Formats: sequence, structure tokens, C-alpha cells
Amino acid sequence: MEDSYRHKGLRRKLIEDLRAMGISNESVLQAIDAVPRHFFMDSAFLNFAYNNKAFPIGAGQTISQPFTVAMQSSLLEIKKGSKILEVGTGSGYQTGVLCALGAKVFTIERQRSLFLKARKLLKSLGLEAYTTYGDGYKGIEGFAPYDGIIVTCGAPFIPKTLLKQMKIGAHLVIPIDSGSELQEMKRITKVADNQYEEESFGSFRFVPMLQKRADG
Ligand code: SAH
Repeated sequence: MEDSYRHKGLRRKLIEDLRAMGISNESVLQAIDAVPRHFFMDSAFLNFAYNNKAFPIGAGQTISQPFTVAMQSSLLEIKKGSKILEVGTGSGYQTGVLCALGAKVFTIERQRSLFLKARKLLKSLGLEAYTTYGDGYKGIEGFAPYDGIIVTCGAPFIPKTLLKQMKIGAHLVIPIDSGSELQEMKRITKVADNQYEEESFGSFRFVPMLQKRADG
């Protein structure tokens, strides 16, 4: 697959759209400019890769909307070298954007087919992330604690294990079910051991965060 002038042009336009929607973090906008979203999508949707929409990626899952990726990435307040845990690798697109932001990314996915596909794609694009197949409710204990955690599926509650895997000062950016089919974007900040602050950033729509790996 190639990153043509046309794709680059569409990406510029997407970035202007994101700016108009209130995304002002220049590093995040640059990272979105640097990662070709169409590489992460099925060929049937290539022409729509730079629309601000979610699209199917197989296994009943979707690649997040660019606005959502921009919003969650901004809320994490990533610094170069920040150690970030991502729950829900999916297509690997959000993972790629975090890598482009200079983060050291550890990402976990419960659908084996998506994990395998994303791992291969990220590698082929030279985006270095630690990818693993497992249940994100457990986080990835082996590399904890993290400077930030991002959950890219709608969670019914805040998993305690993830809170334990945060450094003091770290943010957990997580969409929490708010009834109907929507989630409220929450940012939890660990201010001291067992002490957290919570902020809200509006309604979003995610696929559900499910328990256990898809094959048990
Ligand atoms: N960040 C992804 C978004 C994919 S949708 C992207 O940019 O494409 C969310 C993903 O979370 C789905 O792939 C789904 O399989 C995964 N998921 C749901 N519950 C999970 C869990 N408990 N652990 C790990 N991944 C989970």
C-alpha cells in the first residue's frame, strides 16, 4: 500500500477539520499527520479513511473516529518517552499515533485475529510497540507502572487493576458506560497512593470492553 499525495492531502484536510472541532494540541495533530490511517483499514473503506468516522475492522470491532483518537491522545498529556498502556489495540491505528507522539507503547487486545494483524502492520510501518494478546482488565503487570493508560473500548466501570498500574501523576483516559449506548469520557489522575481525581469530557460511542480473551 502506498501513501500518495492524495492521501497526504486528505490528511491535511482532516487535521483542519480536527482543529475546527477544538483539537489544539499541535503534537497530536502532527502525529495524526504522520500516521497514514488508510493503512489500518480494509480496502473497501480506503476512500473514507480521512473522514471523521469509525469503520469496521473485522471481528465485530471498529477503528476509532479520528476525533476520538485526537481527544484521547490529547488528554493523556504524553511526553517523549512516556510509558503508555493501551487497552484495545484493534486496528493498531491509535497505537501508531501514540508511537508517533514519542511514547513507549504497550498494547493489549482480546481478539486474536486483530492482535496478529495489528502486530504485523505496526512492525512493517516501523512503529515500535509491545503488542500482546490478553484481557485488558488485567492490564500488563510486567511493565507497570505506566505514565498513562488509555482504554479504547467502553468500560462498564473503572478496573481497579488499571488504577494499580499507574504511576503517581499518571492519567487514565477511559470511556465509562453512561446508560443507553453512550460512554462518558473520563480522565482519572492518580494524585497519591490510593487517591484519584476525576474529570469528564463529554459523550462518545465505543464498542464494549468485554471480559477475558475472546477464546477464553
Ligand atoms: N484503538 C483501536 C480501537 C479498536 S475498538 C483502533 O484504533 O483501531 C476497541 C478494541 O478493544 C476492539 O478491538 C476490542 O476487541 C478490544 N477490547 C474489548 N475489550 C477488551 C479487553 N478486555 N481487553 C483488550 N481488548 C479489548
